[in-house]
Amino acid sequence: MKYYSTNKQVPLSSLKDAVLKGLADDNGLYMPEQIPQLSKEFFATIQTKTLQEISLEVATALFGEDVDASSLRSIVYDTLSFDIPLVKVTDDIYSLELFHGPTLAFKDVGARFLSRMMQHFTRDEPEQSGARRSQKREANVLVATSGDTGSAVANGFLGVDGIMVTVLYPKGLVSKIQESQFTTLGKNVRALEVDGTFDDCQRLVKQAFLDKELNRRLTLTSANSINLARFIPQAFYYFWGYAQMPKDSEVVASVPSGNFGNLMAGLLAKRMGLPIKHFVAANNANDVFLKYLQTASFSPRPSIATIANAMDVGNPSNFARIMDLYNGDHAKVVADISGYRYGDAQIAEVMKRVFTEVKYMLDPHGACAYEGLREQLQSDKPAKGFFIETAHPAKFKETVDEILGADIAIPEKLQAFMKGQKQTIPMSACFEDFKTYLLG
Ligand SMILES: *Cc1c(COP(=O)(O)O)cnc(C)c1O
Repeated sequence: MKYYSTNKQVPLSSLKDAVLKGLADDNGLYMPEQIPQLSKEFFATIQTKTLQEISLEVATALFGEDVDASSLRSIVYDTLSFDIPLVKVTDDIYSLELFHGPTLAFKDVGARFLSRMMQHFTRDEPEQSGARRSQKREANVLVATSGDTGSAVANGFLGVDGIMVTVLYPKGLVSKIQESQFTTLGKNVRALEVDGTFDDCQRLVKQAFLDKELNRRLTLTSANSINLARFIPQAFYYFWGYAQMPKDSEVVASVPSGNFGNLMAGLLAKRMGLPIKHFVAANNANDVFLKYLQTASFSPRPSIATIANAMDVGNPSNFARIMDLYNGDHAKVVADISGYRYGDAQIAEVMKRVFTEVKYMLDPHGACAYEGLREQLQSDKPAKGFFIETAHPAKFKETVDEILGADIAIPEKLQAFMKGQKQTIPMSACFEDFKTYLLG
């Protein structure tokens, strides 16, 4: 399989190059040249299969030409070494709980898969027998985070030989718990506390990839959802969620969205044949995608800080992939996706209501997706749906406690991070400073 850039200004790329580069040289995002179709038999028996079996079949359809079967199997099984239960919340709403991984957020899936793919492709270098082994350069993974990406990526790569991870995060804009998950690790993970917003962090990373001098001197790669090996594996759990839904009901999937990598993976699954009837793109106050659905024009703007902070994105990078998938046809996009937007007060109201009425504890991100799904199902009757619960509520303990008047327990896994010593490097939002640091 070859991969093209959404900007179409560079030649096709191999999977290996696309994974190791992250962003194409023309600043576009990689997309698979063909979208494989899964067979009727696959869907006929999907309900009898495990998460890992389903995922391996999907992964084989996409990556089977480029990764040998036994490596791909271990990448998939190793990535998905935790449960992803589908929990019934109301008669027609289910929660696909993607927060049972090491950092308690859905990004564990993409980050773990990506780190294992990168390791596979860097190990893969042919060694010339006899000749002196060429010195392998350390790969530098740069990752901008609004909270959860940093921890998932840092933990996905922690201790992986030959890879240095640099996490950029906006000072004061991520929760203490989130921060502890990538600032206390040490080893091959370093954290830069940027005096700016998430969009500034993302801009610094993008600029680094385009900087000729940096790229001559360092091997830079990205672990943001712009890397195709991070967004594509997220398609696996849409198949798994669908497989567990009651038989014979039409299914709507609702996705709390920021950079839109997660939703994009769902759209890819649908294109591979997964019969999801409709998607909900749930946003917080950062609603540029909803505005696009309403007006057909896309106008990025600076992000606004909200209580669902992992979705505080004003210029979602995967918008380019969605446009590419739909050839920019607005009518087709709105036929598949509906948008909803919730301000902080509404998010809090939803969390309280669902906790009181059905005793289910939502985190602020999942709350947007729950409510978007509930609203959408009123016009999509009698469909049922699942929403993606992207993080454990304890990751946003301060917010959740305040809204629910509770004192929720912090899971063991999170407590372990919080005991570590915070080590960060202060950084301005100016590219020259960042560049000097990387070269230093
Ligand atoms: C990253 C994140 C999101 C948004 O996912 P995208 O793929 O960027 O749209 C939603 N919820 C949580 C908890 C996240 O960490």
